[in-house]
Amino acid sequence: MATDVCNHVKVVVRVRPINSKEKGDDLRKVVHVVDGRMLIFDPKENHISSFGIPKVQKRKVRVVNKDLKFVFDNVFGEDSTQEEIFENTTKGVLDGFMIGFNCTVFAYGATGAGKTHTMLGSPDEPGVMYRTMKELYKRMEDDKEEKVFEVACSYLEVYNEQIRDLMTNVGPLAVWEDDSRKVVVRGLSLHQPKSADDILKALDHGNRNRSQHPTEMNATSSRSHAVFQIYLKQQDKNAGLNPNVCVAKMSLIDLAGSERASASNARGARLWEGSNINRSLLALGNVINVLADPKSKKGHIPYRASKLTRLLKDSLGGNCRTVMIANISPSSKMYDDTHNTLKYADRAKQIKSSLNSNVVSLNSHVGQYAVICEKQREEVWRE
Ligand code: ADP
Ligand code: MG
Repeated sequence: MATDVCNHVKVVVRVRPINSKEKGDDLRKVVHVVDGRMLIFDPKENHISSFGIPKVQKRKVRVVNKDLKFVFDNVFGEDSTQEEIFENTTKGVLDGFMIGFNCTVFAYGATGAGKTHTMLGSPDEPGVMYRTMKELYKRMEDDKEEKVFEVACSYLEVYNEQIRDLMTNVGPLAVWEDDSRKVVVRGLSLHQPKSADDILKALDHGNRNRSQHPTEMNATSSRSHAVFQIYLKQQDKNAGLNPNVCVAKMSLIDLAGSERASASNARGARLWEGSNINRSLLALGNVINVLADPKSKKGHIPYRASKLTRLLKDSLGGNCRTVMIANISPSSKMYDDTHNTLKYADRAKQIKSSLNSNVVSLNSHVGQYAVICEKQREEVWRE
């Protein structure tokens, strides 16, 4: 049973629509979505003409025509909807979550590529975070005759290698592993939303506390990794005196921009910030690399190299279900970033084929979060 539900990293790519700034005639599209699974980066001229874009390009635009084909679990084109993204990424992960597996969904990509739109969205077009909660509440309602559920959420950011609670604006907070190897962030507030709609308000509140600094690439770019975590505790109603308690954690992450610090001409504090952002992303990439290598030993996964990977130690690899949503722009303006994102995503998808050997039984995994931080209950979020 365990092998059916775990050890699967799903990697999808979402191409955002071209925006008004990218419509200049010295820019061109460098991403051609072939079908629901394949795209071509920097396609040859014959593909370009099919976009209806003039073949004559101004010299300053880099036209290399690498014509690189990439295949992923899903490729979503410019007209994809928020619902489509949720249905094909996170909804499936909820199956594992509902039976006690930790799950992680993260949006990766350069600043302006569509990560926040995908994960958070807007009130009119809510993203993965809201839709996940909505679906979770629906499933709990469906099962309420058989089970007692309890949900709690937290929302934090990792900024310059420091953790801060976005709900209470308190930080830096320390992260460590408790005796049962569960990752704990000391002082992080837990909140118990009454409904999925309560979550929208809480996320909006938390987002206003995110560290945001204008860079040349995007005036409202977010330079922090935002981590929204949902804890689900469930107990069988009909299991007699000794019911199994099953608690799992889902992490929904809006990563900071993956562009190199030099690309935005960052200086001083911004440059330092950039290198820390890259430290966490590099560490995440290294963890992914090791997980993807069938020869690597479980004990050598370099989780300790950054705050982000330490935080996700119990939520990546092993028996966790993971989805990576790589966000890209179709414009030649973001040529290098898009190429780098596609390479990173391509590497992440290797995890899938190698982790089956690490499967442990379902029973050894469930119940690892037997108690949702009882001590922090008084901090429960109220409207
Ligand atoms: P990031 O978080 O990666 O820096 P954003 O999500 O803020 O990027 O996206 C940059 C801009 O593009 C925002 O104005 C956002 O609303 C818009 N955008 C991103 N993805 C889409 C999409 N799929 N459809 C429509 N607009 C989008
Ligand atoms: Mg963002």
